[in-house]
Amino acid sequence: MGARKKCRFCSREASVFVRQANLPLCEEHFISWFERKVERTIRRYDLIRPGDKVLVAVSGGKDSMALLCVLKKLSGCMGFEIEGVTLDLGIKGNSYSARSVETAEKAAEELGVKFHVVSIKDRYGFDLDDAVRKVRRPPCSICGLLKRYALTDVAREMDFDALATGHTLNDMARFVLASFMSGAFSELVRLTPASASELPGVPRRIKPFYESLEEHIRTYADLRGLAYMEDGCPYANTAPTDRLRAFLEEMEARSPGTMHAMVRNYLKYLRPALASYLEDELPPLRPCSRCGLPSSGELCSFCRLRDRVLGTG
Ligand code: SF4
Ligand code: ZN
Ligand code: ZN
Repeated sequence: MGARKKCRFCSREASVFVRQANLPLCEEHFISWFERKVERTIRRYDLIRPGDKVLVAVSGGKDSMALLCVLKKLSGCMGFEIEGVTLDLGIKGNSYSARSVETAEKAAEELGVKFHVVSIKDRYGFDLDDAVRKVRRPPCSICGLLKRYALTDVAREMDFDALATGHTLNDMARFVLASFMSGAFSELVRLTPASASELPGVPRRIKPFYESLEEHIRTYADLRGLAYMEDGCPYANTAPTDRLRAFLEEMEARSPGTMHAMVRNYLKYLRPALASYLEDELPPLRPCSRCGLPSSGELCSFCRLRDRVLGTG
C-alpha cells in the first residue's frame, strides 16, 4: 500500500494508499479515515444506540484488538459504553489460550477498558481440548460453536445490549460466496450487520467491521501500535485450506472494491428476496429447554455438545 504522493488532506507524504477509494493518506489521516468509516457503518445499520452497553469479544488477534481500540475511540463521541471479554478456551498447545488472554488483557488495560476473562472449563465443565478428544468433529467447528454460545451467554448474564465481534468484510464476502455455492440459503439469510435480539433478554450481535477490509484493519492496528497476536493456534492446520478466501483476496487486488460490492449487493437485493422466499421454511427460534438461549430444537446445539463431552446425554 506504499505511495510517494502527498496525503489528500494535508501536506505530508502519504504512507498509505487506499486503492478502493483512490486515496493517498498520511498515517494520521488514515487513522481518522478508518475510524470515520467504522462510525458510518455503525450509523448506517443502527448497530449501536446512545446509552447502549456493548461487550466486545477480544481474541488477541488483529481484528478484535483493532475493534476494541476503534470502539473505545468512538464510545465517547457516540455516547455508548464498552467493556471487553476474552474466553479462555483451554487450548494448551503453543500456550495459545494463555497468550490470547494475556494479550487481550494488556491491550484493554492500556486502552482503559474494563475487561473480563471467562474460563470455558470453569463455566461449563469442559474446554476445547476436552471436546476435541471426545467428539469426532473438526476442532474449528467445535470452537466456533463454543465461542458463539459462551459469548452470548456471558453478554446476556451481564446485561449488555449488544455483543460486538471482529468479523470483517473479508469474512462476510467469503460467507456469501460459500453459502451460495453450497446452497445454504437459510444460513445465508441470517448474515446481517446486526442480528436482532432473537429472544427477550438476549443481546443483539453486531459486526462493526462489516464494511472494513482486513488489509485496512491490519494497517490501523499497526499504526495504533497494538501488540496483537499473529495466529498460532495448534488446531489451525486441521482446518481445510481456505481457497475461497484467497480467491476473493486476489479478486480484490485485481479489482479494488470487489468484496464491498458483493456484500452490499447481497444486502440490498439478494437478502430481501431470499428472506421472503424462505419466510415459511425458517424454523422459529425458541428458548433451549435447558439453558434458555435461542435454539431451533428442544435442546440447543451447545447443550447437546456438552452432554456428549461430559457423557451426560
Ligand atoms: Fe478456534 Fe480453529 Fe481459530 Fe483455533 S484456529 S482458535 S480452533 S477457530
Ligand atoms: Zn494527512
Ligand atoms: Zn441450551
